[in-house]
Amino acid sequence: MALLRFDNVSKTYAGSSPALSDVSFAVEEGEMLFVTGHSGAGKSTLLRLVHLSERPSRGTVLVNERNLAKVRGRKVPLHRRQVGVVFQDHRLLTDRSVFDNVALPLLIAGTPRSEVGKRVRTVLDKVGLGDRERALPLQLSTGEQQRVGIARALVAQPQLLVADEPTGNLDPQLAAEIMQLFAALPASGTTVIIASHDLALVKRMRQRVLVLDHGKLVDDISPEDLAA
Ligand code: ADP
Ligand code: ADP
Repeated sequence: MALLRFDNVSKTYAGSSPALSDVSFAVEEGEMLFVTGHSGAGKSTLLRLVHLSERPSRGTVLVNERNLAKVRGRKVPLHRRQVGVVFQDHRLLTDRSVFDNVALPLLIAGTPRSEVGKRVRTVLDKVGLGDRERALPLQLSTGEQQRVGIARALVAQPQLLVADEPTGNLDPQLAAEIMQLFAALPASGTTVIIASHDLALVKRMRQRVLVLDHGKLVDDISPEDLAA
C-alpha cells in the first residue's frame, strides 16, 4: 500500500496556465525522494496539495489510500499532524523561544504538558540543538534556525515530512548537514519528500528524483539510474 499517491492530478490557479498537469506517482512508506525542476515548475504546488494548503483542480491525492478530497473542516488539522512541513524561510515565531516554537504543534494538538517537555527535548537532541532550547530564533545561525523548523515539523511524529527548498538559504556545507539530517529520517519510519532546484545537491543524495517541467512530471529517476 502506497503512503502517498497522486492519480492524474492537475492544478490551475485562477488566471494562470496549469501549475501541475496530469501528475501521477506513488511513494512507499520509508522512502526519501526529491522533487526538482526549474522555478515555477510546480514543486511547491505539489507539496501544498499534500499538506492541504491547496486542493487539486482535477485528479486525486491519496494518503494511506484515503482521498484527501474527503478531508475537510476539522479533519484538516488532524491530517496536518501526519504531515510535517519545513519551509525555506522556516517561519519561526521570533518572540518565542526555541522550546516554545517546537512545542507549539503539540500544544495545539492537546498533548498533555507532562509529555510536551519530553517530546520537545527528544526532537531538539535529534537535530543537534539540545542545548539551545532557551534561545530566541534570531540568536541562532541560519542553519540552526532551519534545524528548529525541522524539529517543529517532526515533533508530532508525522508519517510524512515535506520540505520546500529547505536548504535554499544555506551555504553548501550547512545544506549538506541539513540533508544528512533528512536522510536519517526514513530509518525511523518517516517518509521524506524534498523540493529543491539545486540539482548538484540532489544528485549527491542518490535518492529517487521526480522531475517537473512546466507542471508535467517528465521523469521519475530511481537511485540506481541516478548513479549510472
Ligand atoms: P516551483 O515551486 O517549482 O517554483 P510553484 O508551484 O510555486 O513552482 O508554481 C508553479 C506555477 O504556479 C508558477 O507559474 C507560479 O507562478 C504559479 N503559482 C504558484 N502559486 C500560485 C498562486 N498562489 N496563485 C497563482 N499562481 C500561482
Ligand atoms: P514558493 O515557490 O517557495 O512557494 P513563491 O515565491 O513561488 O515561493 O511563492 C510565494 C507565495 O506567493 C506563495 O504563497 C504562492 O502561493 C504565491 N504565488 C506564487 N506565484 C504566484 C502567482 N503567480 N500569483 C499569485 N501568487 C503566487
